[in-house]
Amino acid sequence: MTSHFIKNATVISVDPKIGVQCNCDILVKDGIIKEVGQNLSSGDGVNIIDGTDCLVSPGFVDTHHHLWQQLIRGLTTDWSLADYAVHIRRTYCSIFTPDDVYKANYFATLDCINNGITTVLDHSHILNSPAHTDASIQGLKDAGIRGTWCYAFYESPDRHDLEGPGHDHTLATPSGFDHKARVEDARRAREKHFPVNDPEKTLLTFGGAPSEAEGMPAQDLKEEIDFFRSIGTRVITMHIGMGCYDVGNRIVKMLEDADKLGKDLVFSHGAALTDEELKMIHKAGSGVSATAETEIQMGMGPPIAWKAAAAGCNVGIGIDITSNQNNDMLASMRLLLQHERGRRWEPMLGKDVPIDITPKSEEALYMATLGGARVVGLDHLVGSITPGKRADLLITRCDDMNVVPVIHPIGTLMFNAHIGNIDTVMIDGKIVKKDGKVLNFDWPKLRQDIRERAARIVDVAKRDKVASTAEYWKAVFKH
Ligand SMILES: [Zn+2]
Repeated sequence: MTSHFIKNATVISVDPKIGVQCNCDILVKDGIIKEVGQNLSSGDGVNIIDGTDCLVSPGFVDTHHHLWQQLIRGLTTDWSLADYAVHIRRTYCSIFTPDDVYKANYFATLDCINNGITTVLDHSHILNSPAHTDASIQGLKDAGIRGTWCYAFYESPDRHDLEGPGHDHTLATPSGFDHKARVEDARRAREKHFPVNDPEKTLLTFGGAPSEAEGMPAQDLKEEIDFFRSIGTRVITMHIGMGCYDVGNRIVKMLEDADKLGKDLVFSHGAALTDEELKMIHKAGSGVSATAETEIQMGMGPPIAWKAAAAGCNVGIGIDITSNQNNDMLASMRLLLQHERGRRWEPMLGKDVPIDITPKSEEALYMATLGGARVVGLDHLVGSITPGKRADLLITRCDDMNVVPVIHPIGTLMFNAHIGNIDTVMIDGKIVKKDGKVLNFDWPKLRQDIRERAARIVDVAKRDKVASTAEYWKAVFKH
């Protein structure tokens, strides 16, 4: 059923014309938000949901994620980006079988839904064979989320040296699956899995991600962008300007000079973007995705989100990796906001009485919803509770000790509520989480499978001869 009447809720619409309204009703018909207001009439044939003591807000939009890392949850919590490059991008990525990728993406997507994420951009850089490609896409489709699955050209290294007992499949890239073969595989994936690449007609659409923008010749990057555009790719995303690791390539400027910037590009991280580059991004209508948890932790620089927003850019928030932290958009918003507030107070310490606090909670909420939807080109469909948009929304119940009383609804959602308070999640008018539980999957069975796969993957990774990141980089720089 995709027709519902939510009665008497506090609605945080993120639509400036509607704002936050108490005692408010929402009528959803055939997956579309029809009316938002007080004292509406439900009409016949709809499912009535009592919204008393509940907050209703738009589903979260996650603008940068590598869903496959859900199988190695929490592994990187004490790692820098250098550690990550050595152990994940050089080792773990080569161990995953197609079935591991399917299970990881399926589980990650269900977990995103549990956390209120209804739209995701999956930057899938685990495509070690066409079977990995199919598995990666199918995981998202089976779990049923809105979003953009991005074919990443990144080539995992050949790690046959890790083969051994208990791990009998071919590790990483099968011979012949070189860049040329990947280009053909991307074309195949686009045709097979996304014959209609139109977000108005299908939940999941096709995107692309160049090999690794900061680590490839400029000409190759331009060619990969051209290729993706030539096959009707909806969104093209890339990592750039990663703080301490920025080597001054000025990718955005290079793309501007080559007339390659556009609305379809999404730049993730980007702490090292210059003011001039932010102006270019703004002018082109490209998107910026900040991932506070990993950027602050891993040395990727202070999140660019606020500077980019001040420059007029479209800005969203990304979860990035569950190998680090959870798919928790509430926590990510709060970290992004509080980190910036701390930075803004700092120059006043010992000099002035700080009074006017910025940024405000609603600015972070905007980035996690409508701002993110703009980044991925879906703001005409989702991101706010607006009549005419698709019904992607969350009902957060405020009955538990941590969410009573509700005085500042946006504050309650962002600072007090947690995943356990998100009672209902709706995607395209379909209820996918109800009474605090994600529907239609066998958790005990999936849980056991995930535990076994994770144990095997971690065991195989231990065969890596490089004991430490420092040792690895020392060897690299010797040559
Ligand atoms: Zn990333």
